[in-house]
Amino acid sequence: MTSPRPDGPWSEPPAQGEAIEVAEGVLWMRLPLPMKLDHVNVYALDDGDGWTIVDTGMSSNKTRRIWEELMAGPLGGKPVRRVVVTHHHPDHIGNAGWFQSVHGAELVTTRTAWLFARMLTLDVQESWPEETLAFYRSAGMDPAIYDARVAERPFNFSDTVYSMPLGFTRIKQGDLFRMGGRDWDVHMGNGHAPEHATFWSRDDNLVITGDQILSSISPNIGVYATEPMADPVAEWLEACERLAPLTRPDQLALGGHKLPFLGLPHRMAQLIDNHHGALARLLDHLDEPRTAAECFAPLFKRKIGGGEYGLALVEAVAHVNHLYHLGQVDRSRRADGAWLYQRKG
Ligand SMILES: [Zn+2]
Repeated sequence: MTSPRPDGPWSEPPAQGEAIEVAEGVLWMRLPLPMKLDHVNVYALDDGDGWTIVDTGMSSNKTRRIWEELMAGPLGGKPVRRVVVTHHHPDHIGNAGWFQSVHGAELVTTRTAWLFARMLTLDVQESWPEETLAFYRSAGMDPAIYDARVAERPFNFSDTVYSMPLGFTRIKQGDLFRMGGRDWDVHMGNGHAPEHATFWSRDDNLVITGDQILSSISPNIGVYATEPMADPVAEWLEACERLAPLTRPDQLALGGHKLPFLGLPHRMAQLIDNHHGALARLLDHLDEPRTAAECFAPLFKRKIGGGEYGLALVEAVAHVNHLYHLGQVDRSRRADGAWLYQRKG
């Protein structure tokens, strides 16, 4: 989903291996991702004798080579002493273990992000776990896509996350954290990823939003086999409504993807409204019983391509789960194992 025009000071991202200084001592850089969303933003904050970086990109030899270029170039050869990770997804935590074990950096993140990432990197599966397959069937995954997936080796977290050594430094809700010559209030997001850290500068207008709030795409909110009954839509809405009073129009929001932007209060209200709109359309769509996979049209209002199918499916499950937890739909098992959701009464 693209927006008409970015509402921010920059219309173009930094080129590969280069940085844009978004505020004094704060560099914005990009790393490539091998998927439809083809990049992730990372930031470096000048601590005087070294850098704190925020997020690390997906683990690959290519992204580590780009980091080496960035460290020798825009970072001026000063050491990366700390790595702050906003949440546990591979595009953010992927190279954290490399910074720890090869560069001696300290990892700073939330307890849930660390536990999730380390658990998943250690959980290497050569064949598909039955729970994952049952989850796909219960979501009504397209049989052709299901068969193609089952025929391949399963995705493993460790394919895209560098081995994580033992040990990290915890940040939590309400902490005051110093980096880049500024004091930052730490507030927890949720819904896109559990215990997702966001940072709110006390000394200027900077906010590091990670993937909790993005400028021109909506943060993916998904349900996975780990917790099939989760309600991350409720969690995301709760977090955004809790963070909304902290926002100001003049803040510069530094997100995990797309461009830094102004107008955080407006963007947050817009994202919240979009979810309420999608839920209302979904409820109408469920006048007839349907699987989660049959709910793409009212949720996304566009054709979902093969490369987006997986993310669309977990997002559809999140939205039907939310209606189910609100008590607005019932569900029943179809013979093939798929849940059919239908509006109540
Ligand atoms: Zn991300």
